[in-house]
Amino acid sequence: MKTLLGAMYEKLGIRKEVWEFGEEILGTLTHRFEKIGQTAEYNQLKVIHAMQANRVSEACLYASSGYGYNDLGRDTLEKVYATAFGAEDALVRPQIACGTHALAVALSGNLRPGDELLSPVGKPYDTLEEVIGIRPSRGSLHEYGVTYRQVDLKADGTFDYEAIRRAVTPRTRLVTIQRSKGYQTRPTLSVDQIGELIHFLKEIRPDIICMVDNCYGEFVETREPSECGADLMVGSLIKNPGGGLAPIGGYIVGKREYVENAAVRLTSPGLGKEVGATLGVNQSFYQGFFLAPTVTASALKGAIFAANIYERLGFPVIPDGTEERHDIIQAVTLGSPEAVIAFCRGIQAAAPVDSYVAPEPWAMPGYDSDVIMAAGAFVQGSSIELSADGPIKPPYAVYFQGGLTWEHAKFGILMSLQKLLDAGLVTLPQ
Ligand SMILES: *Cc1c(COP(=O)(O)O)cnc(C)c1O
Repeated sequence: MKTLLGAMYEKLGIRKEVWEFGEEILGTLTHRFEKIGQTAEYNQLKVIHAMQANRVSEACLYASSGYGYNDLGRDTLEKVYATAFGAEDALVRPQIACGTHALAVALSGNLRPGDELLSPVGKPYDTLEEVIGIRPSRGSLHEYGVTYRQVDLKADGTFDYEAIRRAVTPRTRLVTIQRSKGYQTRPTLSVDQIGELIHFLKEIRPDIICMVDNCYGEFVETREPSECGADLMVGSLIKNPGGGLAPIGGYIVGKREYVENAAVRLTSPGLGKEVGATLGVNQSFYQGFFLAPTVTASALKGAIFAANIYERLGFPVIPDGTEERHDIIQAVTLGSPEAVIAFCRGIQAAAPVDSYVAPEPWAMPGYDSDVIMAAGAFVQGSSIELSADGPIKPPYAVYFQGGLTWEHAKFGILMSLQKLLDAGLVTLPQ
């Protein structure tokens, strides 16, 4: 088998010594992979339980069109999400265009003029800056008279409880807590940490709405923030919970009243959750949610494998090779533009789609430097599929995530290393 595998890797462009180096690293990860398998097993059962408890039937997989009144599949899927995430209610819709849209709907549905929004975990994800109006933008919450306040994490990545207490005012209506670090270098928050923070906030003011941006966090642990006190939890279906099959969509789960507030903003006052045709996506939403626990596990194994490979080669990695994981993102600081480009070309060359194109850095809108992106995905822009991107600026880090199967994630990472070796930018340890 070993020779057969080695020959196949060679056929795909991975030289023997690269594969063997990978196998050596992999040999040290058995215990961690076993734990990831257990989490996936638990979450798989959690999802199946939610589907059974809500009597998912063949009729749920059918399409609706037009207004989409009485779409059994849509309404049942929302119950499945609510049950699986321990929430009262859910909004899971193809009309939610992306994660930013889901967050914008949850925020604008639950905030009113004169209210204040607080982020106690530092600056939110880039695209949220324009939603909130941190950067002036047409249609921002700021334009509707919602103010914003932020408390940064302390230098060691922990919560600044004293400053948070001072920042809560009678106008504070909603607190937004981003679980994943996104493109920052702060640590990702664990579900336990988020639970503690929510507990602290509720002690100050029980009526504050605590919302968690759960992007990239779903199914990484056995519990979600909605099971630890979050009133609202929001995410994208082209990340973890779509399982790679959802072609579009986002979700908002939480307390019934707050989900309803979001629903009337997404559709219209008076209509709320009653309208919104599903046009045939129900099956992929269900099947993707069913696969999501094991797909997330594959992505996590890839992230840990990469962390250990690149750490061993001397590059700074966040999280490091041994750290507990709370999302699927891996950052590797490669230190030069050439290395970032080679890494991304490796990920691209390992893709099932568009493997023959070589990604180039370009001036993407919304970024202050050129950015290179690698993605050979079945769903455009899907980042639960193996993907990588890196801004071409110091410290020349790449952020990568995803992998629908562990085998593909492994191949992609080995290919990134092969490209770095080919370019003479790294040498294997003797
Ligand atoms: C991806 C992401 C978003 C935004 O989602 P899009 O689908 O890109 O709009 C928001 N917050 C976090 C933490 C994310 O990772």
